[in-house]
Amino acid sequence: MRNDPVVVIGLGRFGTALALELTRRGTEVLAIDNRPKVVQALSGQITQIAAADSTDLESLNQLGVPDFYRAVVAIGSDLEASILTTSLLVDMEIDDIWAKAVSRQHGQILSRIGAHHVVLPEHDMGERVAHLVSGRMLDYMQVDAGFALAKTRPPKDYVGVRLGTSGMRKKFGVTVVAVKSPGEEFTYATAETELTYGDVILVSGRTEDVERFAELP
Ligand code: ADP
Repeated sequence: MRNDPVVVIGLGRFGTALALELTRRGTEVLAIDNRPKVVQALSGQITQIAAADSTDLESLNQLGVPDFYRAVVAIGSDLEASILTTSLLVDMEIDDIWAKAVSRQHGQILSRIGAHHVVLPEHDMGERVAHLVSGRMLDYMQVDAGFALAKTRPPKDYVGVRLGTSGMRKKFGVTVVAVKSPGEEFTYATAETELTYGDVILVSGRTEDVERFAELP
């Protein structure tokens, strides 16, 4: 199922990157955009690509869109087109509909009309970058509402201490998932792992716990 063909509608920066990455990973893609120039520029790089208006039911039917299991609506700025396209896919009973939103309100509408997953790439990236510019985190990912994974360095109090005896989980509610020593690759952390200066660690936990831990000197 994971490798089923995917329809990608809207080939702006987001949709194009998505369609090309899916193709690179061996997934068949039907890409649709109503700008012939965009379609022309990408032809040959994506399995199947068509110039069509995705708010037109007839065009979607002709392209065989109702036969797909999975679709991504990557239209952002044209709200009307985004909403109409998503609702047509919902009417077609596509099983797995992903839709890009440009604001929370837009996302709420898309969920309400039946999109199964809503992504807010600019909003999410803004939040992520905020964590990177304002703290010591090297990377940050909000895994789920209220749960995060951060790449950071061990606070000085935890250097030279075995994770099993550190009390870190009890005190901060976070778990070190993996450790990377200088010049080595990431390995899973165990109770026996002892952090050293220069290590990079992956820490998971509730967002505020991860944030608090990553602020430690
Ligand atoms: P990004 O921010 O990722 O560049 P945009 O919202 O600017 O995304 O781009 C959306 C893309 O969707 C554009 O390439 C546009 O031509 C396409 N698009 C907009 N409306 C329709 C429509 N009704 N049918 C098909 N493609 C559309």
